[in-house]
Amino acid sequence: MRLPTPHAAFVGGAWPAVPQTQASALLAVIEQLSRSQYLPEEELAAARRPQVEALIDHAVGQIPFWRDRVAAAGLDSESRRRDAPDAAEWNRRWATLPILRRADVQSLGNALHARALPAGHGGVAESVTSGSSGRPVRIIRSTLDYFYWQAFQLREHLWRGRDLSGSFLSILRNEQRTVLDDTVHLQRTNDWGAPVATVWPTGPSYLLDYRAPISALIETLREVAPDYVCTFPSLLLEILRRARQEEIRLPALKEAVVVGEASPPELAALCREVWNAPLSSTYTAGEAGAIAYQCLEQGRWHIQSEKSIVEVLDAAGRPCAAGETGNVVLTPLHNFAMPLLRYEIGDLATVGDGRCGCGRLLPVLEAIPGRARDLLMLPSGDLRPPYYGHRAVMQVGAILQHQVVQTAPDQVCFRLVVARPLSPVEEQHVIAVATEALGGGLRVSVEYVPEIARGPHGKFAEFQRLFALPGE
Ligand SMILES: [Zn+2]
Repeated sequence: MRLPTPHAAFVGGAWPAVPQTQASALLAVIEQLSRSQYLPEEELAAARRPQVEALIDHAVGQIPFWRDRVAAAGLDSESRRRDAPDAAEWNRRWATLPILRRADVQSLGNALHARALPAGHGGVAESVTSGSSGRPVRIIRSTLDYFYWQAFQLREHLWRGRDLSGSFLSILRNEQRTVLDDTVHLQRTNDWGAPVATVWPTGPSYLLDYRAPISALIETLREVAPDYVCTFPSLLLEILRRARQEEIRLPALKEAVVVGEASPPELAALCREVWNAPLSSTYTAGEAGAIAYQCLEQGRWHIQSEKSIVEVLDAAGRPCAAGETGNVVLTPLHNFAMPLLRYEIGDLATVGDGRCGCGRLLPVLEAIPGRARDLLMLPSGDLRPPYYGHRAVMQVGAILQHQVVQTAPDQVCFRLVVARPLSPVEEQHVIAVATEALGGGLRVSVEYVPEIARGPHGKFAEFQRLFALPGE
């Protein structure tokens, strides 16, 4: 990919450019990342270890909660100095560190905050991570952690080979919007904003507030004709479905980017079919920033191992093998304001196998089904993404929106918003295909509703389970 020359800090330093301080720091980090992505796993872990140990020592020194946990695992600085554990022993000790659960973070609250930060980490800001059904988790993050998050955002643009001179339109919530009516709220900026525009010249960007009728959002897309579109998977799904249903020609697009929720597997194919554009889905979280990105070559997700230690563990707490799905456990490495060591975020991921064709050696995730609380429970007790039924629903063009509701361990209801009443054949088709796709053992019914409301964060609650799982 050909990148433009960075912005120069002063006249006469334009080429090769001398960038300003913040841009120079970002470029210095992504230059290191461009090499670390090719390190074998053990070498990367060795290079990362001083950062992990600095985080551990800071947590122990600042937060009483971590003192005993870390000492019991033999990972405190004194034990490390005394025993000088090699890599295998270090990893064995790490695996004995108890898992920190969402409920722990909710109940401990400020007791997980550091009293002070080392020099250079800046101030702190709070970020509240939502859940459509779960209670929110409050996290504080340092300025330095935010800086690293920006560096990884740049990496994602580079990995995807984006043309920075193009236009970028996001359909997300615009907090600056004050009047809520049925009109379209579109805000244009001359560049892509931080962090990209901190470093390079870019084309314009647009923020389209999602709070408008789908038809109005589509009309705006046709007028602006952006090169890139970024939104939630559920909103993209609805836009694509509506465009197909009403045979609306969408303007040429270089790539659709989805963020913020698990992306149904069918979405990439639908995006290709309706918009003739590739889809990129990023795995990020308020607690950790970048967790995994898709490379262009195979569409699987590479773990951002330089940002967090990411473990995928089975119910017994053992690492999952390739092909197995387990709980994601994170240790973000740069947030000293609220160190989280082995934090179970509540997401499931499937471990990938072998090397990726792109040559990067960062470990691979095969699939990211999403949050356990957003998953369907099979009569066997296994959890499964609810979007297995999407294909059946999308084959019927008259269905504008749908929601999967699990009303009982053996019962699932498809709530449908339709453009016209379905014929009995169409209704039977949805029930039959969905029953098969959901693996049998579940009774599927159909219910017609006038609308399906979006949640407070703009995401459509595509799935609801009306009963709690054990331990939920
Ligand atoms: Zn790859």
